[in-house]
Amino acid sequence: MRGRDLLDAVLPTVCVSCGALAGEGPIPHLCASCAEALPRSAWPLATRIPCLKSAWCLLPYEGLGGQLVRRGKYGGREVLLAELAEYTARAAAPVLPLVGAVVAVPSPPARVAARGFSAPHLLAGAVARRLGVPHVRALHRHRGPRQAGLARRARGANVAGAFTLSGPFVDEPVLLLVDDVVTTGATASACAQVLLVGGARAVHLLAFAAALP
Ligand SMILES: [Zn+2]
Repeated sequence: MRGRDLLDAVLPTVCVSCGALAGEGPIPHLCASCAEALPRSAWPLATRIPCLKSAWCLLPYEGLGGQLVRRGKYGGREVLLAELAEYTARAAAPVLPLVGAVVAVPSPPARVAARGFSAPHLLAGAVARRLGVPHVRALHRHRGPRQAGLARRARGANVAGAFTLSGPFVDEPVLLLVDDVVTTGATASACAQVLLVGGARAVHLLAFAAALP
């Protein structure tokens, strides 16, 4: 535990979304009524993202989804992200296509070093445990400018070439790529392309929150 997690452990728990008393529902960082607003099941995105067979998400990024991710990532609340990861894994497992392994979109190494955790990695671990398949570190991310704040076209150019396979090839034919947020789909698409070139037959995506319909 670090940062805000330590404070949360000693202060009375208030909902990170609305400030009411928290700790009753499936996500201890949320009050019962905010937890009630979370979908029971993941849903498929209507937007077609290149290189992905299907894409699934728990919440729109607009509103509660984005708010929770930002509180977790920028607020240094690893425990909150772990709670959201478990919830998302539970909600997604019954509806996801069959996959042989789960792969997290690698976070920029400098960010992981600064925060001490990676949100996609936490989510991928929870989903892999729930599905009973391996969580494999199949992708490597190179250093580059950060995505947040870049315009759509600049994001696409920024991520092309940012990822490579960690090993010589991909063992599993059907993979589930996992990211915490899908904004334009450019990052997920770049990762999926590398996995397909590396030998995967199909790549599906699961994100906690999506800015795409
Ligand atoms: Zn609340």
